[in-house]
Amino acid sequence: MAEWNGTIAKITLPTPFAVGDVNVYAVKGDRLALFDVGPKTDEAWDLLKYQLSELGLVPEDIEMVVLTHDHPDHAGLLDYFPKSLEVYGHPLNERWINRTDEFMAAHDRFYLGLFTEFGIPETYQKLAGQLKKSLKYSCSRSLTGEIMEGDRVPGLPDWQVIETPGHAQSHITLYREQDGVLIAGDHILAHISPNPLLEPPIAKGIERPRPQLQYNRSLAKLRDYPAGLVYTGHGANVSRLPELIERRLTRQHERAMSVKKMLEDGPKTVFDLCRQLFPAAFERELGLTLSETAGQVDYLLSLGEIEPVQDGKIKYFKIR
Ligand SMILES: [Zn+2]
Repeated sequence: MAEWNGTIAKITLPTPFAVGDVNVYAVKGDRLALFDVGPKTDEAWDLLKYQLSELGLVPEDIEMVVLTHDHPDHAGLLDYFPKSLEVYGHPLNERWINRTDEFMAAHDRFYLGLFTEFGIPETYQKLAGQLKKSLKYSCSRSLTGEIMEGDRVPGLPDWQVIETPGHAQSHITLYREQDGVLIAGDHILAHISPNPLLEPPIAKGIERPRPQLQYNRSLAKLRDYPAGLVYTGHGANVSRLPELIERRLTRQHERAMSVKKMLEDGPKTVFDLCRQLFPAAFERELGLTLSETAGQVDYLLSLGEIEPVQDGKIKYFKIR
């Protein structure tokens, strides 16, 4: 049952994704806000209404939404709210929640280029369509206002914005200094490490982001904030953040080293490594498994443990 814990109420909604339920939060201040909204499905909408009613609220009472990031399971349900509802988030949400033809064309070109570079054989190129399948649960909305590093949330001045890119380029974490409470979206999850999703460059002509490296930096950044309770985007709350940060960073390093080991029998492409890491899942979840693999490769490159070998348009990696 949804209930207030001070000024915050956790609401859990179903999603059509493998990750399972998503958490969104009603937050009271000068105004009443929802931090994230859920995926665009009738089930999520019904359960949101039901849990709001347990809090004595109806959707019309919500005055504004704050997005931790743009992913469909967090932002899609915006389409069920009136167009007049105010939506705040990092400016990089916009390209994903309000997808233009131009962005989608650039998106497709970007992934096709990556598929070639990653050494994905033609027979698997048809799986490129999969990458967009989750967008049908997303919304078609525009931000009312942009919030960035150090900003206070409009109408909720207790809440401060910390930019935490990695899982998404748009990702922010909200921090309440007086009691160290964090609303962390998918940046901090109790049981799993979020996927460092590959995204097109944020501007034309620049290199793609390196989301695993960003994620590690964003994790380390939270060491500077005396954190109490962390409200997460999926699953349980986290109460011991410093330990979780160290555990995640250590585990990712170990995982990268096991990927390096796979190169002992010769140079491999990202796709070779992906199939070896995820033999059962790579066809079903190509986008996620490629992102995870490319993340480990980017990390090993950053440490100088491996180096690229270009063969035409295909990139192989070998131990240095
Ligand atoms: Zn997400």
